[in-house]
Amino acid sequence: MPNPLSLYDNFTRTLRHFEPLRPAGEVGLYTCGPTVYDYQHIGNYRTFMFEDVLKRVLAWNGYRVRHVMNITDVGHLTSDADTGEDKMEKGARRTGKSAWEIAQLYTEAFLADLKVLNILDPTVLCRATDHIREQIAFIADIEKNGYAYRTSDGIYFDTAKQDDYGHLARLDVKGLEAGKRVDLGEKRSPTDFALWKFSPPGGRRQMEWDSPWGRGFPGWHIECSAMAQKYLGDYFDIHCGGEDHIAVHHTNEIAQTEARVGTRLANFWLHGYFLLSNDAKMAKSAGEFLRVASLVDRGYDPLAYRYLCLTAHYRGQLNFTWDALDAAATALDRMRHGVHALRDAGTALPDPNLVERFTVEINDDLNVPRALAIAWEALRGDLPPAVKRATLLKFDEVFGLGLAAWVPKRDEAPSDVKALADARAAARKAKQWAEADRLRSELAAAGWEMEDRVDGYRLKKRAPDRDPVESR
Ligand code: AMP
Ligand code: ZN
Repeated sequence: MPNPLSLYDNFTRTLRHFEPLRPAGEVGLYTCGPTVYDYQHIGNYRTFMFEDVLKRVLAWNGYRVRHVMNITDVGHLTSDADTGEDKMEKGARRTGKSAWEIAQLYTEAFLADLKVLNILDPTVLCRATDHIREQIAFIADIEKNGYAYRTSDGIYFDTAKQDDYGHLARLDVKGLEAGKRVDLGEKRSPTDFALWKFSPPGGRRQMEWDSPWGRGFPGWHIECSAMAQKYLGDYFDIHCGGEDHIAVHHTNEIAQTEARVGTRLANFWLHGYFLLSNDAKMAKSAGEFLRVASLVDRGYDPLAYRYLCLTAHYRGQLNFTWDALDAAATALDRMRHGVHALRDAGTALPDPNLVERFTVEINDDLNVPRALAIAWEALRGDLPPAVKRATLLKFDEVFGLGLAAWVPKRDEAPSDVKALADARAAARKAKQWAEADRLRSELAAAGWEMEDRVDGYRLKKRAPDRDPVESR
């Protein structure tokens, strides 16, 4: 292969050449899914889109991908340290619905968002609550192998039993031990975590099950170890999630799987870095967050947000601003129009040189920002129109911007209005101010307003007695 795929593996902290574990089979990919106690925010979707691009890049390289994504609908506590309330039960209280109802509601909302962001469906979408039996069997094996102990509130994983516990996160376990806090409770080490939690004595939870240890519910981490193993086997190709999963969730998934079957679960561990808002992590628990619907309410196409995410490498944080989203919307708009203008160009093969350069970039640990630059070069360059179109549509297999299907909205400025606007732009350039003003009035009479920009202009439809609405 002339341009081999390399991915940054957080387990070894190196850029590694990707070779599938089963060369003739499918690439196994597990990505941690949403916790469905609320809507997902756009930060969550940054991670889901990075994973989607990874899938598309694997497909670009000729691999078939078996993608498993879980839905966390039980067991994720408000604190990663296994204290606090189950987020689902808390969400139920907040909304006045049952935990089961909110799981359904927010799962459906999540799936609808995936569609509008052009995120490809996983091969298997699995709910934690549908896999309690598998989780219990997993915990029973961990216990049998000597890695579990009981406290008054649950069954815990004994992290001290593993010499390499915390390797993924390069945890300083000894340092953590030294700094033990008094609130360790009955846990033996600060890093120990719950495998099974008991329902409160005398109380009932909305979501609880019988188990060999008593009535209760599984810890958060066990669902991913159990479902990944069920659908992908003891050791598969790639495991992904957001950067917050490195220190606790993925560290504990690895510990559990190692205790049961002796593998580190996945060959590659990839993490998407955060979307920030005002330079702080965008978080559901912080109360205020932006949803995909919040963008739509403000007149943005959700794919403008997808474009924005493509402009930043997944291994760096991205600070969200409305200005950045505006710039992404403008760029997407231009790319769409550019490709649309080539719709009658006929068929051709993509340009092989550009495709090769594109492949080098995406295979360099998914360097999508540089791949985007190549797409612009293709669009602005002087390739024959049919080749240009074919090249851009080929690139869009990775971008997922839906360029082939896009058509201008009906309130797109008609060509006579565009001609007036072009004439006015020319008049301004020639400093013919009176003519420019006259053309502006003509545009206004036709119901359009022209906004001058450094790099050209933008037409906006005039809404009666309201601010003009942008014609996207
Ligand atoms: P959750 O629903 O909290 O389990 O998160 C779903 C996914 O979004 C996980 O992979 C998280 O690591 C990821 N995530 C959470 N917050 C952010 C953020 N601000 N930016 C990017 N990814 C995030
Ligand atoms: Zn997970």
